[in-house]
Amino acid sequence: MADTADVVVVGGGVIGTSIAFALASAGVAHVTLLEKGALASGASGRSSALIRMHYVNEEDARLAWASFPVFRDWCERMGGPPVFTPTGFVAVVGPADAAALRANVEMLRKIGVDTTAMSPAELKTLQPHVNVDDVGAAAYEPASGYASPAEVVEGFRRQAQARGARILPWTPATRIVRRDSAVVGVETAAGRIDCGAVVVAAGAWAPRLCRELGIELAARPKALDTMLVTRPPELARPHMVVIDHVLGTYFRPEGDAQTIVGVPCQVWDIDPDTMPTGLPPTAPVEGAQLLTHRMPVMERAALARGYRAFDCYSADRHAILGAVRGVDGLYLATAFSGSGFKIAPAVGACLAELITEGRARTVDISAFRPERFAEGRRIAGRHPYAPRRDHQEPTR
Ligand SMILES: Cc1cc2nc3c(=O)[nH]c(=O)nc-3n(C[C@H](O)[C@H](O)[C@H](O)COP(=O)(O)OP(=O)(O)OC[C@H]3O[C@@H](n4cnc5c(N)ncnc54)[C@H](O)[C@@H]3O)c2cc1C
Repeated sequence: MADTADVVVVGGGVIGTSIAFALASAGVAHVTLLEKGALASGASGRSSALIRMHYVNEEDARLAWASFPVFRDWCERMGGPPVFTPTGFVAVVGPADAAALRANVEMLRKIGVDTTAMSPAELKTLQPHVNVDDVGAAAYEPASGYASPAEVVEGFRRQAQARGARILPWTPATRIVRRDSAVVGVETAAGRIDCGAVVVAAGAWAPRLCRELGIELAARPKALDTMLVTRPPELARPHMVVIDHVLGTYFRPEGDAQTIVGVPCQVWDIDPDTMPTGLPPTAPVEGAQLLTHRMPVMERAALARGYRAFDCYSADRHAILGAVRGVDGLYLATAFSGSGFKIAPAVGACLAELITEGRARTVDISAFRPERFAEGRRIAGRHPYAPRRDHQEPTR
């Protein structure tokens, strides 16, 4: 006899575990999460997990803002050890984007975010080690910071299980079973699970999984390079989290002594099962150039380690969220485009509401609907910045 569930979630990263937690919290009795490896073994476990609200589009900013209290008040809401380190956050742009940044700060303030626009001189006062020569403006968020990715996934797992969800690591979904215009189950190596709804939260594997169902996602898996340095004694104390739109990178402290540096990477269409996880030799050189340009004192930093990870990037660099039109019971929560960690709590709540009530209440996620690409309704901010060079998509 086939196993049954109300909802099967495919993928045990931060998104899948958050959805499983939210479904179980909403009273869905039989939630099963399938993860083909260990939980957090995909993008989530290697995420830099910057927690900030600065976006150029309101839809993502609202998801980030709705998620923020979950990270900040983790112990009270989720139990377990704290997962959030508040450091303060700045986004810096060049002179050509300074007016756009001020407009985006206004948009964020209207949502309720505590953020202010700063001149380069004000940024220098706030973070004296930062070189502001090519900075036109900065957006400051005093309460933002970063999270511990593995602890967050573990917390969602723990609370989902406590509410009755069944979490099955090392259990790949080998096929999503579709009958006519509805999904009816999921096959696994251990047998079939009949269910009324399936959520694909499979990160970089989602395009392949959907293709097997006859659904072509406007999304491609892409590599991301990251390096860690040990800071010099002159910068012993942790600095703020910085997203640098001038250089196309970001920096954040890791613990008391190290700094994570995002190194621009243009490697697309990777196979997440076989991609080598080492950095190419050019990456630390480029990372060091970017880091020392923005923080000259880092010339005396020492390379600690580096790694290549991946995520699924959509054609407009925003998530694909919602029900698949024409396939009853199939939901997508994927293509977070290097930016999904900070919005995971609200994404989980929204998907649970969509499945149980037919509409997301926490945040309106209709702009993220899968069919927006076919409709020509891509998500875009009203005041975008110069495109990031690691986001420029090669033609297939
Ligand atoms: C280096 C790096 C830095 C980042 N920095 C930030 C940041 O600072 N802030 C931010 O907000 N975001 C950041 N991100 C992005 C963020 O981490 C991702 O968008 C987010 O973790 C995606 O979560 P996910 O659950 O969708 O995917 P994943 O974590 O990849 O999870 C998908 C899971 O699905 C499983 N799976 C796949 N196929 C199957 C199957 N058939 N059956 C069962 N299981 C399956 C996989 O094993 C995997 O565990 C970063 C990402 C990376 C890689």
